[in-house]
Amino acid sequence: MGERPQISAIQAGAWVTDPRSRGPFASRSARIENGRIVELSENAPAGPAIGNASAIALPAPIDAHDHGRGLRSLSYGHVDLPLEIWSAGHSLHPAADAGLIATVAFARIARGGAAGTVHLHRPIDYERMVDEARAVARAAAEIGIRLAFVVPMTDRQSAAYTDDASFLDWCGPADRATIERRLVHKRPRPSEQVALAEEIARAIAGPMVDVQLGPGGPQWCSDDLLAAIAEHSAVSDRRIHMHLLETRRQREWGDAHHAKGLLPHLDDLGLLSPRLSVAHGVWLDAADLALLAARGVKVAVNISSNLRLRSGLVDLAAFKRHGVRFAIGLDGLTLEDEDDVLREMRLAFLLNAGTQLDPNLDIADILDAAAVVGREVLDGTSMAAMRAGADADVLLIDRDRLVPDLIADAGDDLDIAMLRATRRHVSHLVVAGREIVRDGEVLGTDLAAAERELLAMARALAPNSETLDFVRRHRERLKAFYQAGLHLGGR
Ligand SMILES: [Zn+2]
Repeated sequence: MGERPQISAIQAGAWVTDPRSRGPFASRSARIENGRIVELSENAPAGPAIGNASAIALPAPIDAHDHGRGLRSLSYGHVDLPLEIWSAGHSLHPAADAGLIATVAFARIARGGAAGTVHLHRPIDYERMVDEARAVARAAAEIGIRLAFVVPMTDRQSAAYTDDASFLDWCGPADRATIERRLVHKRPRPSEQVALAEEIARAIAGPMVDVQLGPGGPQWCSDDLLAAIAEHSAVSDRRIHMHLLETRRQREWGDAHHAKGLLPHLDDLGLLSPRLSVAHGVWLDAADLALLAARGVKVAVNISSNLRLRSGLVDLAAFKRHGVRFAIGLDGLTLEDEDDVLREMRLAFLLNAGTQLDPNLDIADILDAAAVVGREVLDGTSMAAMRAGADADVLLIDRDRLVPDLIADAGDDLDIAMLRATRRHVSHLVVAGREIVRDGEVLGTDLAAAERELLAMARALAPNSETLDFVRRHRERLKAFYQAGLHLGGR
């Protein structure tokens, strides 16, 4: 549907200009030029404006870790399980059109209130990744969200946390060919993978699109690959986004294989720097957090996903104590598959506020994480708060619809918005001065029609009963592998 026109003004009754500050917030309007806020004023807007005097304006959150899951896992039999067993279900994903998958995913993410997504790409066809990157970038432009396209980079242990040959031997002859075909990936040399990332950057990078290096995770990347990525990042300034210590078994693997500790090992490889963000970090310990804080590494946490895949609860109070900055990611695995960033932020707050009389963290910390740190993870910009000169990325909450029952106004619109709002209370989402969501509707595409088209395509490519049976058997094999402690090596 093409690029949407720039708006010239936003009106709101409460303007949370700094997510770390507390109310009361002034009634203000913002004048917008070329995608940026040029002036915040106490006056009503002079000309046409979106919003109204009762709206609550928040700095727009960013989805700081995702995979653009346009097809939701439940729809194709990839039911929630502990991550290492769940991974068998990757082979069920229908090989539908990458652009259409991204369009549906990004439309849902925008509808959920997020102004951008850090997209660690899961290729439909690795050999066609440059074309897929182009299609994904077109989808982001169509919806109007900011995009970090993270180029997936792995080269070992693709089927379980041991080398692929040993794993296949352990599995025995039954299903061997199927496991090899569906779940074992052979990838190019490190230098070729870095070159591919640069080719993708030349193809799609721009003001709304950052391209990042995406080591899948330490257990899936050789030291040679991680070192090549670290070195390339240091000379090119390209950012890195990587899964890290998502599950108990990843922690066990990391401890068993690194006498000095996994994090000090990554540090030795040169990987830990302000250019790195990591996803999950559920199993980081105090020493890890201190090291990440010292190196300026940011963590994109994924609360719902960690619940759904039995990964555990991240301890954001410990992050805060250690000075580790964190952002909020949806991972395409939110509660009820709603991709609702507002609900995800509330869950992050409630699961981490603690039981003491003073809360471990403030709801304002969560908004700062989602909007300010999220934007830093997305493209390195560290001025996401709403003030003159900042990008016009603004989420407007319809206060009248949110609190029709309000009889005593305590004036704390931050609390009001953060403790109740869901995507159903979003009146407008503005990104780079363009209105991309209005009253819950994504303006850049017909989401319902795109969902129907994608489902029809996926249905024709749906896994058959033979594949479903294979996945059931393979889940049992993986469970036996990890239960026997075979990811700890030393057999
Ligand atoms: Zn992920």
